[in-house]
Amino acid sequence: MKVLRLQKPMLNSMYTAQLDFQQLELTDLTTFDSAFLRGWRTRVKEHLDWVYTMLRPRICLVCGEPFNVWDMHEGIVTRGDTRGWPRPRQLLIMCALNCIPLHHTCHLDSPPKRELVWESQCDFYGEEPVRAWYEGLPWKVGPPRRF
Ligand SMILES: [Zn+2]
Repeated sequence: MKVLRLQKPMLNSMYTAQLDFQQLELTDLTTFDSAFLRGWRTRVKEHLDWVYTMLRPRICLVCGEPFNVWDMHEGIVTRGDTRGWPRPRQLLIMCALNCIPLHHTCHLDSPPKRELVWESQCDFYGEEPVRAWYEGLPWKVGPPRRF
């Protein structure tokens, strides 16, 4: 059984796209369960918290107000989009390129359209890595042409 250790540098480099996904060797992942998922999301949240402290304005994309406590929102590709994918591959959308922080109420009441999240992520990371990530996901018949 392959043991995957989640290390910050790996997550910190998530916005540089594919390399990380190769390193993850997701098809070998046999320990994927809800505890693993929680741990994964916690690491991504820690990374995002750092990004939104050091590099990006700590502002909610929905209401434009500052946030302190926040929810993590899968904004470009949703969890619903990954239904039917082998479970470890669902982790591919839980990365900095796809996830943004929102106020809890904004997340529940009026989550942003994916086009808005796409624009915001491309502004920050550049379109190339965002598109490479998006098109590299394990779509069954190619990526939906949304962007
Ligand atoms: Zn908000």
